[in-house]
Amino acid sequence: MATALITGIAGQDGSYLAELLLSKGYRVIGTVRDRNTAGCDRLGDISRSIEIVEANLLEQTVIERILEGHRPLEVYNLAARASSSQLFEDPVLTGEVNALAVARLLEAIRKVDPSIRFCQASSSEMFGNASESPQSEKTQFYPRNPYGVSKLYGHWFSVNYRESHKMFACSSILFNHESPRRGAHFVTRKITRSVAKIKLGLQRNLHLGDLEARRDWGYAADYVYAMWLMLQQAVADDYVLATGETHSVRQFCKLAFGHVGLNYEDHVLRDDNSWRPSEAAQLVGDPSKAERLLGWRRSVSFTDLVCMMVDADMKACGQGR
Ligand code: NDP
Repeated sequence: MATALITGIAGQDGSYLAELLLSKGYRVIGTVRDRNTAGCDRLGDISRSIEIVEANLLEQTVIERILEGHRPLEVYNLAARASSSQLFEDPVLTGEVNALAVARLLEAIRKVDPSIRFCQASSSEMFGNASESPQSEKTQFYPRNPYGVSKLYGHWFSVNYRESHKMFACSSILFNHESPRRGAHFVTRKITRSVAKIKLGLQRNLHLGDLEARRDWGYAADYVYAMWLMLQQAVADDYVLATGETHSVRQFCKLAFGHVGLNYEDHVLRDDNSWRPSEAAQLVGDPSKAERLLGWRRSVSFTDLVCMMVDADMKACGQGR
């Protein structure tokens, strides 16, 4: 039975990837920083089928010990300081976790077993002030916040270990992807959670920043499937994972409120405090390489994604969760 290691398994993507790998017969090992505080509720019933290990990716020896102890065939590095509030906050810690931890992981793999296949979760924030649109694997990087800079370091480390050490290291350049398991502070989940609460009479209004901000939003389960596909190829490479289309926060609100028979204009209020020091240019990914070489296609449309998230929050809020 093949073993896979997922760092950040209790996060949104970790939970979907764990489900996918279990369904494919893998033995799944996942890291969390602290068993007592990690939001393992996302893992639900599958947590019984997974081996959870505590690991802070700031410690080199811990990473080596996990690799030696479990001998994975594949490693997916999903752990990161990744919330929207952390794009600018505590840049030194962001660099430690998102950048240097990638170096620690790749170095540990090189020492313990360089044949391990590695997938790094990189980000569209690496494009930042992009010089072209849509962005592809060939677009020049120009990150505009410490998170994007840290992810770029991890991305290049992965490329460098592939080229210098001939390791099977891939980088998935991920555009925004959402789901009912998205963290509560991200705008999409903030909207769908509020829609449910407003519909159920538990909340009156929703305060949001720029309603015209546009994002390329896909479905998380589709993106982790592509990461798995990347590690099944004959040759390691980097791929943009995106939908290729953008929608505004206003469109998201209109659909989400409309799905439960409400008008967003009756409930959404402008919050001028949601301003950011330097907003990335409009980012929209070109997934054609992944579609051509991996045979990957997203399975959920924007409308279905919004409705799926609202339905899940209606159910959770209705049950008092
Ligand atoms: P989440 O925030 O849901 O999960 C990230 C996980 O990282 C958390 O569960 C957290 O673990 C873990 N983590 C944070 N700091 C540390 C640390 N010091 N040591 C070990 N683990 C740590 O993110 P997603 O699942 O949404 O994203 C997965 C990856 O994809 C991330 O790397 C993110 O940057 C990247 N990405 C995601 C995008 C998206 O739209 N979702 C877009 C672009 C990139 P714990 O449970 O222990 O707190």
